[in-house]
Amino acid sequence: MDRKLIINLACTGMVPTKEQNPDLPETPEEIAGDVRRCRELGASIVHLHARIDGVPTYRKEIYVDIIAAVREAVPDIIVCVSCSGRNFPNIEQRSEVLELEGDLKPEMASLTLGSLNFPKQASVTDPAMIAGLAERMQARGIVPELEVFDLGMLEISRYLLRKGMLRPPLYYNILLGSLGTASLSPLNLGTLLAALPEGATWALAGIGRFQLAANTMAISAGGHIRIGLEDNIFFDSARKKLATNPMLVERAAAIARLLEREPATPAEARALIGLAPR
Ligand code: ZN
Repeated sequence: MDRKLIINLACTGMVPTKEQNPDLPETPEEIAGDVRRCRELGASIVHLHARIDGVPTYRKEIYVDIIAAVREAVPDIIVCVSCSGRNFPNIEQRSEVLELEGDLKPEMASLTLGSLNFPKQASVTDPAMIAGLAERMQARGIVPELEVFDLGMLEISRYLLRKGMLRPPLYYNILLGSLGTASLSPLNLGTLLAALPEGATWALAGIGRFQLAANTMAISAGGHIRIGLEDNIFFDSARKKLATNPMLVERAAAIARLLEREPATPAEARALIGLAPR
């Protein structure tokens, strides 16, 4: 069980467009189709972003359609939604999707633990926003996907833990390789892992051409992975061949099996992270 690999599929994101990659899933049907195929190939979590006519949106009505389509296609997958602040500045917008009820309620939601610069844009999550989102997730019983791009973000999570504003289970997504934040290297990863709270589950994502190296690093280091077109639209590091979500998951699952790590089922992933069974 300890060797099982949790594959978190970040299938859409905020930034990629269909002009850049025509296989980017945007509509509920397209997203559900990719999630179904990626679940068969080994994904156990899906990290969802919503779009209206290709434009990112925070609106819960759109998430309703996406989550309903995903639940129908793949009833057992762990549904994680984005509370990204890249384009949406206030907490009412960023937390709207947390209000969904019943079968549409997400089990997890992203919580970026600080502000950062992407190559062309700032992503602002100030201390009050971090605390506010954490509080709303805790009140709703939604487990945060703790997004960490730098050591300071990890350290703020330890502070929130001490203050009771975060509680286990703790699932970290460490994202390395974006210009302006920590690069992907064994030293950077090791420094971050050394600062993780005890008992935390961790996954690693590599941005852009670092995705494959991040996958293999995490698999061999005993962690878990986040993968998909949100972070990387190409299959090869020369950026000549476009990827699809299933292509990326299939390759990562094959590497994992070579290293004797079978992809976890969603039920196994829930047990590993400490989520309630579904
Ligand atoms: Zn995202």
